Amino acid sequence: MTSDILTQAITDRRDDLVALTQDLIRIPTLNPPGDNYREICAYLDHRLRGSGFQTELIRAHGAPGDSDRYPRWNIVARRDGGQTGDCVHFNSHIDVVAVGNGWTQDPFGGALIDGKIYGRGACDMKGGLAASIIAAEAFIATHPDFAGAIEISGTADEESGGYGGVAYLAEKGYFDPARVQHVIIPEPLNKDRVCLGHRGGWWAEIETFGEIAHGSMPFLGDCAVRHMGAVLTAFEDKLYPAMAARTTDMPVVPEGARSSTMNINAIHGGQPEQPADYTGLPAHCVPDSCRITIDRRFLAEENIDDVRGEVTALLEDLKTRRNKFDYDLREINVVLPSMTDRDSPVVQVVAAQIAEVLGKPAEFVASPGTYDQKHIDRIGKLKNCIAYGPGILELAHKPDEYVGVEDMIDSATVMAGALASILGGQEQ
Ligand SMILES: [Zn+2]
Repeated sequence: MTSDILTQAITDRRDDLVALTQDLIRIPTLNPPGDNYREICAYLDHRLRGSGFQTELIRAHGAPGDSDRYPRWNIVARRDGGQTGDCVHFNSHIDVVAVGNGWTQDPFGGALIDGKIYGRGACDMKGGLAASIIAAEAFIATHPDFAGAIEISGTADEESGGYGGVAYLAEKGYFDPARVQHVIIPEPLNKDRVCLGHRGGWWAEIETFGEIAHGSMPFLGDCAVRHMGAVLTAFEDKLYPAMAARTTDMPVVPEGARSSTMNINAIHGGQPEQPADYTGLPAHCVPDSCRITIDRRFLAEENIDDVRGEVTALLEDLKTRRNKFDYDLREINVVLPSMTDRDSPVVQVVAAQIAEVLGKPAEFVASPGTYDQKHIDRIGKLKNCIAYGPGILELAHKPDEYVGVEDMIDSATVMAGALASILGGQEQ
């Protein structure tokens, strides 16, 4: 429960919360390539040791992206209470995406203007990380004899799949349900929403083949780009209408993502594109290869084998109908959908705290894209996991990204109240 004492303890830490968020933004942890992971882990290490946590810095040796130049560092901090009980784990990713154009603020300056802190990663998700630290510190200060344990992790590479971060830690047992019972990921889903999970994703490259010949005599060759055109036509005629007709019971936001979707990320065929300063003319050739990359997002109601099979069936059908059609399909990655049950303890506790702190019922949502819950679910086998944190999802990855201080205060109060509900302890 959120008591007046706990609410006051959070409010008293407002300046600390702002400074902590600013400090985190000022460490530019761009991914790719994976800059300054060690620095931000060292910062968090210092902070959390000061609050009585035991800490471990863990490098994801051998994970994709890990190298001596760009080591994938993670931190896991744990504070045990006086008695046995459940462990509540807050997991935040420490990486941020590229800055991009269009900023009016310094992306690594952390300026505080009119109650908003600006910077790359402000909402996604250094504001959430800071809110969870303040929540834990305020809870520990007011409930020193709590039962169980609190863990806070800062993990690498969420923006590039999480393999050097949460996936690595899950493989090492850090999300074993025997060790951790409740996970809250403070991604920017808005302070009044509980995010139960995410859709699945299937990424693949499709290549069509042809035969090179002189462009003036295309009948002597075979155009791979025309074959790809037939693939795209089949997608337009059959796949897209079929996907649009499928809807889900998952409360995905925005609503457009409540059916299956597919993006075509890239298309390339024929001779390589030349640099912009190349002044020559193209050579005349029939392309013998054309490739597309597809990003197919699927629903909890769909099966990954059907998702693959649907695309493969269209390609196989073209093989029977189209002269000399041949293709290759290479799978790049698969992420299965993840949905935590609405009756799960962490869902119920956080929803109750939202209602109490904000005076209105919590909204239950699911994410169109995936996040680290997938690894906690599939590798860690831990199902009692949600995303909950401050910040406006639509600002993530945009120019002039910010997080509102008031939103951080409110969600830190919700998080601290959740700790009090689960871990108890006499208020002091
Ligand atoms: Zn994020």
